[in-house]
Amino acid sequence: MTSRSDVLIVGAGPAGLSLAIALAQAGFSATVVEQQPGAALADPAPDGREIALTHPSVATLQRLGTWAGLQAHERGTIREAQVHDGPLGRHGPLRLHTGGAQALGAIVSNHALRRTAHAVAARTAGVHILAGAQVNRVATTADHAELDCTLGPAEGTTASQTLRLQAPLLVAADSRFSATRRQLGIGADITDFGRTVIVCRMRHAQPHGGTAHECFGYARTLAILPLPDAADGRAACSVVVTAGAADAAALMALPPGAFAGEVQAQFQQRLGAMELEGERHAYPLVGVYARRFAGPRCALLGDAAVGMHPVTAHGFNLGLAGVERLVAALVAGRHQGHDTGHTAALARYASEHHRHAWPMYQGTNAIVRLYTDARPVPRLLRQGVLQLARRLPPLRAAIVGQLTGPLGASPHAHRSALRPWD
Ligand SMILES: Cc1cc2nc3c(=O)[nH]c(=O)nc-3n(C[C@H](O)[C@H](O)[C@H](O)COP(=O)(O)OP(=O)(O)OC[C@H]3O[C@@H](n4cnc5c(N)ncnc54)[C@H](O)[C@@H]3O)c2cc1C
Repeated sequence: MTSRSDVLIVGAGPAGLSLAIALAQAGFSATVVEQQPGAALADPAPDGREIALTHPSVATLQRLGTWAGLQAHERGTIREAQVHDGPLGRHGPLRLHTGGAQALGAIVSNHALRRTAHAVAARTAGVHILAGAQVNRVATTADHAELDCTLGPAEGTTASQTLRLQAPLLVAADSRFSATRRQLGIGADITDFGRTVIVCRMRHAQPHGGTAHECFGYARTLAILPLPDAADGRAACSVVVTAGAADAAALMALPPGAFAGEVQAQFQQRLGAMELEGERHAYPLVGVYARRFAGPRCALLGDAAVGMHPVTAHGFNLGLAGVERLVAALVAGRHQGHDTGHTAALARYASEHHRHAWPMYQGTNAIVRLYTDARPVPRLLRQGVLQLARRLPPLRAAIVGQLTGPLGASPHAHRSALRPWD
């Protein structure tokens, strides 16, 4: 059986689903092909990731209609960020805030973002989701893209179904380890940081005041991200520990109480007694930058295009910026009389997205290298950078601008509001 739509998207992650909704809003039809079963998409399991979102990202989610599906207790606010170099308190942190009532950004669990994106996509006319699909082949020709996949047996039957899907454009949004990118013949530069990040939620005795902390210890890096209060009214945060592989394996193997004790000690009891809530999740730290973001009748989106190190919290923000850019390029192409997936539109998307993403990717990797190197020269250098940022308000403002995204740049962001997303 052959089926056609305007755009085929491989991967129903937050980027792929956001693109499908944005395309439908712009009048394009989209088919999303995902390997996970429908039930896992409708009610995704917690994966430990708490996603810090810039103001433009929140505005995009509002426009897509997915923001409204989040419960009030799922939307957190980051008011200030503090960067600590070495053991806490030795040099005093670099404090980053907007200087006014405006928050730095929002914070939402990844599984909640996935759930609301799926809920909106599933009810949007023009979006078709094929869950539980095994992609067997993708190929492109001069005028269309083609994808063969196998769907598991429909309810009440035993036979699986093979489908051939065609569209003028295929988008790979199937994670940083994208098999589709490879099948399209697009290479990627991969940086294996040789470290593992452990993420989990913790409850704690003292309030966090909406402040995020990035503590660059010399062996382990610890980030504390403020979350909305837990169901029992206690303060809660997301804990992000980056460590060497062996150290991370040992931390994962610790009983919950002993793990909480380690975090509490590294954070010098600043949040009082801490308690693990739920599971710990470990991710190997691998950065990926695709050599091209587009080719004939195909484009890359989300982590399939740029898989960031999470320390600067840019990954999904970049994915959403890619959604906006790709749809704008396709709409502009349609106004010029081009068909969907015309080379000119894809070239525009690829060059604009690269110009935005490349400095962020390289800057993030440079920060990671500088702040995880315990040798004396890098230690001096990073203390110098922090000193400079403390003394130079324009530099501090530039760093804050990276965290918030341009304030008020979107018609959906209100400059004066404390939390423009409420
Ligand atoms: C610890 C951690 C913390 C992070 N914190 C932040 C943050 O604070 N702010 C931020 O902006 N970003 C953050 N990120 C990054 C963010 O999580 C990612 O950028 C985002 O999830 C990428 O979305 P995606 O849809 O591109 O890919 P994914 O979420 O990886 O989704 C890909 C989808 O494709 C499917 N798929 C894969 N292969 C196939 C196949 N062959 N066929 C069909 N389907 C397939 C998968 O099942 C999945 O559903 C963080 C990441 C980590 C690891």
